[in-house]
Amino acid sequence: MMLHLVKGHHKRKATALLECPRCKGREVVETRIGVQMIDGRPTRGTKVLLCANCHRNGERVALA
Ligand SMILES: [Zn+2]
Repeated sequence: MMLHLVKGHHKRKATALLECPRCKGREVVETRIGVQMIDGRPTRGTKVLLCANCHRNGERVALA
């Protein structure tokens, strides 16, 4: 069966550069909260992006 790609339905995506409001840094570290171990594998959990620069300074600034 042929797969028909529907064209002309491209939504404009909102793009923004993620920047730390505190230090204006653009480096992030990704953490996860509430990961469950299912059959010995880390699964689920909520991803959080933290400012890497503030993180190095002992601050927790969640960006997304
Ligand atoms: Zn920062």
